[in-house]
Amino acid sequence: MKYDRIYNFSAGPATMPEPVLEEIRDEMMNYQGSGMCVMEMSHRSNVFQQIADEAEQDLRDLMRIPDNYKVLFIQGGATLQFAMVPMNLMKNGAACYVETGAWSKKAIDEAKKYGDVHVVASSKDRGYSYIPDCSGLDIPDETDYVYICENETIHGVTWPKLPQTNGHVLVSDQSSMFLSRPCSVSDYGLIYAGVQKNVGPAGMVVAIIREDLIRDSLDPKVPLYLSYKTHADNGSMYNTPNCWAIYVCGKVFKYLKRTGGLEAMEKRNTEKAQILYDFLDSSKMFKGTVDRESRSLMNVPFVTGDAGLDAKVVAAAKAAGYDNLKGHKSVGGLRASIYNAMPKEGVAALVEFLRKFEAENG
Ligand SMILES: *Cc1c(COP(=O)(O)O)cnc(C)c1O
Repeated sequence: MKYDRIYNFSAGPATMPEPVLEEIRDEMMNYQGSGMCVMEMSHRSNVFQQIADEAEQDLRDLMRIPDNYKVLFIQGGATLQFAMVPMNLMKNGAACYVETGAWSKKAIDEAKKYGDVHVVASSKDRGYSYIPDCSGLDIPDETDYVYICENETIHGVTWPKLPQTNGHVLVSDQSSMFLSRPCSVSDYGLIYAGVQKNVGPAGMVVAIIREDLIRDSLDPKVPLYLSYKTHADNGSMYNTPNCWAIYVCGKVFKYLKRTGGLEAMEKRNTEKAQILYDFLDSSKMFKGTVDRESRSLMNVPFVTGDAGLDAKVVAAAKAAGYDNLKGHKSVGGLRASIYNAMPKEGVAALVEFLRKFEAENG
């Protein structure tokens, strides 16, 4: 393989499109005649402003983001959003959350510090292996928003269709599925995603928020940095932003645009995931852990049923050039994260490896 790179199935930070890495390499010492690397530039310079403006516009084009939504680049990762969401959106001090895995659980625990949190549905009873039926949720009138994690990275579950919110604002953590398929932005009040899963380097979140949800006055103790209004009023440059992440994400947005946009991504991602799920469904040794209709296209957890054998597979796979297949420490087993940048050949090669392992060790 070119550059001796491996197939990297990491859940995040994760594999990047090679053409993007090559462009960054070529611009490292001198960004487009500026005489500087992007990481050496003032965020107030015209050249960086253009990088940020293009990144936002390309994302707007890709997702067809309506004009009444702001696009914000915020530091602190998705984890900071677990607090920023309730701090900014709880007007009545009440929100509904759906508990579908480790990340929504963390968001629930954080939100409880700021108001009344109603867990209106949960899949904890079967180890977060499915998305509960949310077609008839009982949502109190005073609820400020309904919160979901749309793709649970650790448990590998995705919402097959959005919950019924009865007109309440929907907030979604899309970290591990952002830009993996078309998204109807107007169905949501707020979408956010840590970019190190499916887009770029760690350390930044993209938040897409409907303008009327940006409040003028919050509790005066809320740090300025944690108010969406601060970021919205200052074009995400109230302070020094994560310039490098904005630059690299901008490259990925352009790459996605020229390779067919989100419709093409969905088609590719569906085909890729199918290769792996078809194998798991036919294997005697390996088995997927998620109900069919809730299976993620991005994170595929699977097990042999024997922790010792799981570890042996992970080690043998690493030696063969398929790395980061160990499941999250909280659930064990194996997990293949097959984000946008994982080529179909990578998934096919992994399946061949697993098939051979099963034949030799079955
Ligand atoms: C990784 C992840 C997070 C946490 O992201 P950080 O950037 O590390 O804070 C939150 N939600 C989901 C769905 C994730 O996959």
